[in-house]
Amino acid sequence: MVVRISGTAFNKFGLNAVKLAMHASADAKLPVFPEMNQERTRSVRIIDGKASAARLRAEIAHRVQTLSSRHGVTPGLAVVLVGDDPASQVYVRNKGRQTREAGMQSFETHLPATASEQELLAQVARLNADPAVHGILVQLPLPSQIRETAVIDAIAPAKDVDGFHVINTGLLASRGTGIIPCTPLGCLRLLREYLGSLTGMRAVIVGRSNIVGKPMAQLLLRENCTVTLAHSRTRDLAAECRRADILIAAVGQPRLIKGDWIQPGASVIDVGINRINVSTADGPATRLVGDVDFDEAVAVAGAITPVPGGVGPMTIACLLSNTLDAACAQHGVDPGSLDVSEAGHTDAAGASAPQGTST
Ligand code: NAD
Repeated sequence: MVVRISGTAFNKFGLNAVKLAMHASADAKLPVFPEMNQERTRSVRIIDGKASAARLRAEIAHRVQTLSSRHGVTPGLAVVLVGDDPASQVYVRNKGRQTREAGMQSFETHLPATASEQELLAQVARLNADPAVHGILVQLPLPSQIRETAVIDAIAPAKDVDGFHVINTGLLASRGTGIIPCTPLGCLRLLREYLGSLTGMRAVIVGRSNIVGKPMAQLLLRENCTVTLAHSRTRDLAAECRRADILIAAVGQPRLIKGDWIQPGASVIDVGINRINVSTADGPATRLVGDVDFDEAVAVAGAITPVPGGVGPMTIACLLSNTLDAACAQHGVDPGSLDVSEAGHTDAAGASAPQGTST
């Protein structure tokens, strides 16, 4: 008997069709396909980033307390906002509140939209020299008269809790260490929490930005995934996505990724945050959606992050985690010595530790 199968999705089991081509001799009994039975009973897991972030923040707060009582060090995070962008103002407010809730010191600086690059660089230099400040974040985007690269280059690498400085991106790329950008770190923590080991999995990342896509690729390589980094010039993006066991969307295009771009059972991490116009019974309104068409994807994926409530909350929690680690490093304290396991908490993802080999 010859059985040839291409594709694995079956419409009648609620999955978007890829293609099933099966040829069997007329008198042969059809084989039982294990994946068919699994898919029949499959239920998608909604990856609850809000809950994971709350757990992580609670662990951080406990560690901050231990750092403070044992070593007399209170981590401090400085956030600099230039201009009056409403979305940035909300982010900065949230970061400040969550920093204080974790028991850290929060320092906020607000410069006018007309501030010069020199003024911002002078502020960064002051924060670099301030021993109470262990982490510095300059909220992006910046007004057009200021070069982002000049500002990122000016932040002391040890205080660069966004992980954007070339020293940190270089350390991640070549040694799998350094301060890791918060959004990809949050994605990795979610994946490790929901999937355990990622070794050998095929990961496709859509989007190659310095903030998300590129560091995400480095992190997944470090986890021993086989990584594809797709972007706006990728040919047949749908086919690339369909190969993924892990699909990360970081594009900035509302609902670009459709259900039939997703391999049945794949884990989907939607980084995108897009505000779209919708009409409601009460008239026109706006709504946040991701880069993945959630309603379609949820029928196919094995696990998926919602927007909002997926990656977003993890980003700020990882910023706090980076600030705590930076404070430890600046005071020669081993972060592992602040372990909270005796208090019943665990580091669900343990995502800061490199996995496997670098070969
Ligand atoms: P970016 O604009 O810097 O990069 C977008 C990338 O997507 C580029 O590499 C581009 O090549 C690629 N791209 C654009 N259109 C494409 C297409 N049609 N097909 C394939 N690739 C395409 O964006 P970014 O800063 O990486 O952010 C991406 C998304 O993630 C945005 O929606 C942003 O708001 C969101 N974001 C969310 C968080 C969070 O905390 N959840 C953090 C950062 C960014």
